[in-house]
Amino acid sequence: MSSGEFASAGADLELVGIQKRFPGFTAIEHLDLKIPAGSFFALLGPSGCGKTTTLRLVAGLEEPTNGRILIGGTDVTHQKSFQRPVNTVFQSYALFPHMTVLENVAFGLRRRRIDDPVAKAHEALRLVELDHLASRRPQQLSGGQQQRVALARAIVNRPALLLLDEPLGALDLKLRRQMQLELKTIQEEVGLTFLHVTHDQEEAMTMADTVAVMNKGRIEQMGAPEELYELPRTAFVANFLGQSNLFTGPVVGSTSEAISVDVAGQKIVVPAARAHRHTGEVTIGVRPEKLTLHVTEPVGDVARNTMGPGRVIDVSFSGVSTQYLVEVPGIGTLIVFAQNMAFGPVAHEGSEVWMSWNIEHGFGLEDDAS
Ligand code: ATP
Repeated sequence: MSSGEFASAGADLELVGIQKRFPGFTAIEHLDLKIPAGSFFALLGPSGCGKTTTLRLVAGLEEPTNGRILIGGTDVTHQKSFQRPVNTVFQSYALFPHMTVLENVAFGLRRRRIDDPVAKAHEALRLVELDHLASRRPQQLSGGQQQRVALARAIVNRPALLLLDEPLGALDLKLRRQMQLELKTIQEEVGLTFLHVTHDQEEAMTMADTVAVMNKGRIEQMGAPEELYELPRTAFVANFLGQSNLFTGPVVGSTSEAISVDVAGQKIVVPAARAHRHTGEVTIGVRPEKLTLHVTEPVGDVARNTMGPGRVIDVSFSGVSTQYLVEVPGIGTLIVFAQNMAFGPVAHEGSEVWMSWNIEHGFGLEDDAS
C-alpha cells in the first residue's frame, strides 16, 4: 500500500465547553476535548450517550447550544458543513448505484472543479486496494469493498479531519475485524485525524490511539486503550470495557505503598498508585483474566491477594478459554477467565475453589462506593 500524495497532516480538533440541548433533552452536558493532529481517536459509549450528536456538531450538521469548535486552530462553530475541512463516513455507504466505483470517488472532486479528478480517484482507490475494481458498480461489490469505496471517497479530497460513524456496523464480525486493522493501517498511511464513533469496545480498543468513554453526555474517562482497560476510574468504564470483578468495603489500612480493604472479612490489598481513593468506603476491582483458580487453599504470598473459598456455579467453555462463575459467600459472584491448557478444566461445577491475583493487577475506583 502506498500513501503517495495522500500523506498529509491532519488538523487537531478542539471542543471547548460544548453543550447541546434539544427541546426537552440535554444530549451533551459539557464537553471539553482536544484531539491531536494525526491521531486515531474513538468516542465509545452505549446507545444514546451522545456520540453521534458530538460527531454531527463537528461535521456542522448540528449547532451547539454553547461552546466552541476549533479545527486546526480555526473557530468553525458557525461555519456551514461544506465550509469545514471535514468528511464523514457513515454506516450506510450511500454510494451512487448508477455510477462506477471510480465515478463515485471522483464525483465530489468534479463537482468542486478540482484538477485531475480521475488520477486522484485512482490514487485513493489504490490506497484502499480497490483500483482493480474501478469500473464496477457498487452492487457488484461485497459489503467490505463498498465500505472501502466510501472511505476512498471520503479521503480523496484530503480533509483535515475524517469522521467515522459506526462505519463497520453493517459488516459481519470477521470482515469487521479485518476492516478494523485495514482502517488503522490506512489512517497511519494518510496521517489524517480520525474521529471514530462506536459502541463496540473491542473495535475502539483495536483501532484508536486514544479512547474517550462517554456516558450520559459526558466523558467518563479518556486515555490509551491499555490504560482505560487496566486502570478504569469508574464502575461504568470498568464494566463497559470488558468485564470486571468489583468489591466494596472500608479501607482498613493505608500506607504510601498500598491500601488494604476489608471485603466481607477478607483483606484485599491494592497498590496506592492504582487506587483513586485511599480512605472510607471504596470500590476496588480486578479483571477476570487476572485471577488464578485453586482447588486447594493457596499458601500465603505477600505479592498476591487471595479470596475464597467459593463454589463454582457455572463453567462455560469457549475454545481458547473457559469462563468460571464462582459464588463466594458474603461477596457475590466472581468471573474468572482461564486459558485452556492441555489437561482440561481446573474445576467443575460444584467444586470448592479459591482465587488469587497479583496485587499489582487490582485497581480502585473513584466512584462513591455507596
Ligand atoms: P446511538 O449509538 O444509538 O446512535 P448515540 O450515543 O450516538 O447513540 P445520540 O444520537 O448522540 O446518541 O443521541 C443522544 C441523545 O440525544 C439520545 O437520548 C437521543 O434520543 C437524543 N437526541 C438526539 N437527537 C435528538 C433530537 N433531534 N431531538 C431530541 N433528542 C435528540
